[in-house]
Amino acid sequence: MKCTRCSDQAVVALPSHHAAFCAPCYLVFARRLVERAIKEHAMLTPEDRVLVAISGGKDSLALAWMLKELGYDVSGLHIDVGIPESSPIARGYAERFCTTQAIPLHILDLQSQGLAMCEVKKRVKRPICSVCGQTKRYFFNTFTLNNGYSVVATGHNLDDETSRLMANVMRWDTAYLSDQGPVMPAEKGFAKKIKPLFRMTEFETANLCFIAGIDYGHAPCPYSAKASFPVYKRLLADLEDIQPGRKIHFYDAFLQRGRQGFASAETTDQAVDPCVHCGYPTSTGECGVCRLRTMMKE
Ligand code: SF4
Ligand SMILES: [Zn+2]
Ligand SMILES: [Zn+2]
Repeated sequence: MKCTRCSDQAVVALPSHHAAFCAPCYLVFARRLVERAIKEHAMLTPEDRVLVAISGGKDSLALAWMLKELGYDVSGLHIDVGIPESSPIARGYAERFCTTQAIPLHILDLQSQGLAMCEVKKRVKRPICSVCGQTKRYFFNTFTLNNGYSVVATGHNLDDETSRLMANVMRWDTAYLSDQGPVMPAEKGFAKKIKPLFRMTEFETANLCFIAGIDYGHAPCPYSAKASFPVYKRLLADLEDIQPGRKIHFYDAFLQRGRQGFASAETTDQAVDPCVHCGYPTSTGECGVCRLRTMMKE
């Protein structure tokens, strides 16, 4: 198998791109995918101060590495969610990576906020991933806005985005469908959010880590088993095997032709006001994290 760019021995085949690459050309290919995503969706300017959400997994590390390679002003924020089986391992990968790459890393420890997820799980009735996700979004937003960052970048890849899109389609969830995309502009007290890896599959980001020498590990969260997205990921992976390129076409076509239709159908414009305790935007007077704090103190 020969590299599509330089005809050297290829180390990775990518049927969905009808291509194969040697290691150096793979890095060029990955760089172009990220540059294209950033340019097409006006994600970043050279003046931006970017806060990367660094979980310690392959996608977040690949993202921070690539944005730094592209010359952006990058710092990381790792939220230690306080789950003994997985959090210390994830935090270790985040810290080692940022030290090696000389990327400034902030750590926010939910335990110190009285919100360790292992404790929260014992008290809440809602699915823990929904509470954990909401809490992480809260802190990424507030940290970005309170510390002079202009945008928060997350490592969502094409598999994350297409499985989420498919889950939303299966429920015909017009509110989520009108909102899904690689860029959420800054509005109503929320920071701008971007997903520069959305054109890359999980396989491709894993390959990027391997070829760039990024040490990533994975300690599965013990609470992740009930998430529905993995089912859709498997279905889409089967489809991609039969029809290479299907995932990116599905997502690109949604962005070009589908999303707009849902945006116009979604007319409920809920009033959003600052939380009475912390000022975070909310439609319920008191935001979800302040409610959680109150509950955990009781
Ligand atoms: S799997 Fe769920 S509980 Fe675990 S870290 Fe992710 S969102 Fe939080
Ligand atoms: Zn090559
Ligand atoms: Zn609040």
